[in-house]
Amino acid sequence: MLDGLHDAGYRACLVGGAVRDMLLGVAPKDFDVSTDAEPEAVVEVFGRKARLIGRRFQICHVRFGREIIEVSTFRADPGTAEDEDDTREIDDAGRVLRDNVFGSIAEDARRRDFAINGLYWDVADECVYDYVGASADVAARNLCLIGDARVRYREDPVRMIRAVRIATKLGLTIDPSAEPPADMVDLLADVPSARLFDEVLKLLMHPAGPEVFAALRHYDLLRPMFPQTHAVLESDAGAASEVLIKTAIANTAARIEAGKPVTPAFIFAALLWPAVRERAADLEREGMPASPALSSAQSHVVSQQVQRVAIPKRFSIPMREIWQLQPRFHKRRGRAPNRLIPHPRFRAAYDFLLLRATAGEVEQELADWWTLVQDDPTTPKPASGTGMK
Ligand code: ATP
Ligand code: MG
Repeated sequence: MLDGLHDAGYRACLVGGAVRDMLLGVAPKDFDVSTDAEPEAVVEVFGRKARLIGRRFQICHVRFGREIIEVSTFRADPGTAEDEDDTREIDDAGRVLRDNVFGSIAEDARRRDFAINGLYWDVADECVYDYVGASADVAARNLCLIGDARVRYREDPVRMIRAVRIATKLGLTIDPSAEPPADMVDLLADVPSARLFDEVLKLLMHPAGPEVFAALRHYDLLRPMFPQTHAVLESDAGAASEVLIKTAIANTAARIEAGKPVTPAFIFAALLWPAVRERAADLEREGMPASPALSSAQSHVVSQQVQRVAIPKRFSIPMREIWQLQPRFHKRRGRAPNRLIPHPRFRAAYDFLLLRATAGEVEQELADWWTLVQDDPTTPKPASGTGMK
């Protein structure tokens, strides 16, 4: 792959996470390539295996066996590029059509977020090139921003959660200069919700999820992303809610480590349940019957939440079903259990009931009863799997 570009006379390097992970002794999960070949030239080298992606920020996806490798051309931060190198195209209204400001490898390094993410491994001599002073950080297992923290976090507030994720997963120390500044965390409220959904998955659907969650709380990064969850955690009901959420994240982490299937629906259900539960209780106090109170609380909490972090329908629908089934676990008489158990979402809802028991929200005896009743040969069998694929 790198050889193809090299043989065609271009500089070809592995960059970013892969180089960082190799130096830290971790198996990289994907490989990004950086080159001085412009995107069209990359297509020329790889022919039908290559596809140009993006307009404003053009990169090339190259199929390599079963993997897709991202190949990007060295570029400069548009703000610092020399005028004569500026290849930006501006339309009549002054909008930037393309900001493919190609640059040198050193400029390419400086526009990256953290020093340890700015390392290049050149296939020509199989050496690591460091233009941002990252080698000392690797040795000290330290996470530093390239440049001024306030400038870099303002440019892209997602870097604040990337800092937490990368440091926690790799066991690095966030340098004091790179700690998310308390007065900047609210900038995350304006990040497109779809991008934050992707980031939340990377943060929490991971074996280090529990540590990442603790770090998010520590730097107050949960508040801009999950304001309603944050509010309950800070209230009198906070301690039990925290147990519920942390247990859900820990269960997911354990399942990932055991190679079992996991779904974001479960974690989102746990993150938002305390707010749903509190709001439903308020509505009931105002005289609304339990069932419509729960439905109304769900709709309200979800519609508020998706303004910050999107939740695609394929996860929000099962999440709401998990919630909606909870009151039915209190109906143990007659044929009610036999009607509930074959429900396609029973398993997930039952797992959620266990979570609520762990958090002291329902009696452990109730959870145990449902555990036993499933094994009773006279009750119907639950649908297999989690009911979520
Ligand atoms: P992971 O192991 O989670 O994939 P990564 O560092 O490879 O971590 P990617 O999102 O794959 O993260 O990004 C690849 C590289 O692109 C990074 O190493 C970094 O050099 C650069 N990069 C990614 N996101 C940003 C950002 N928000 N600002 C600046 N540079 C970034
Ligand atoms: Mg990566």
